[in-house]
Amino acid sequence: ADEVNILSGALQLAKKTVGNIMTLIEDVFMLDYNTLLDFDTMSVIMKQGYTRIPVYENDRNNIQALLNIKDLALLDPDDALPLKSVIDFYQHPVLKVFEDLKLDNMLKDFRQGDSHMAIVQRVNSEGEGDPFYEPIGVVTLEDVIEEIIQAE
Ligand code: ATP
Ligand code: ATP
Repeated sequence: ADEVNILSGALQLAKKTVGNIMTLIEDVFMLDYNTLLDFDTMSVIMKQGYTRIPVYENDRNNIQALLNIKDLALLDPDDALPLKSVIDFYQHPVLKVFEDLKLDNMLKDFRQGDSHMAIVQRVNSEGEGDPFYEPIGVVTLEDVIEEIIQAE
């Protein structure tokens, strides 16, 4: 029954991690800080249909900000404003978590209300250079809720 699924889904929250349910980074629609918000770019953004869009500086490994599509509501595409100016104006907090964070704790963070998306990262210590934080996915409140209601 549905109730049993939901109960078992809720119990799984303490076992599963954000790494288990995230959307992989290569599938994430992101924008570069230096994008100009002209008609073509705004059309692409609207067609993607995502409410929250990570924004990176120069390199997709370097996520610095979050755009909410609501931020674009009053913009005129003819002005072709730089995305950077919108980002700097709203300054939405970017929540970053490690891949082993359990879903019950992820849910607590989301319920704080600052953000409904988190960037999932890991420490990359392969290679010659210093270890660095590498984004490997995103997780949203929706992903956690799906785990609760769709459990088998
Ligand atoms: P909302 O429902 O609040 O408008 P949304 O439809 O943009 O938001 P969610 O409902 O939070 O997105 O998530 C739906 C799925 O899309 C989830 O699996 C989530 O990980 C994924 N997702 C959210 N944002 C992005 C993005 N920018 N790029 C790729 N996948 C995303
Ligand atoms: P989002 O978080 O996806 O940007 P939102 O902030 O507009 O959406 P929700 O997070 O879905 O809204 O809901 C937050 C609270 O605001 C809920 O209690 C909801 O019932 C209430 N709410 C949402 N839309 C309206 C509205 N148009 N008028 C009054 N209350 C609303």
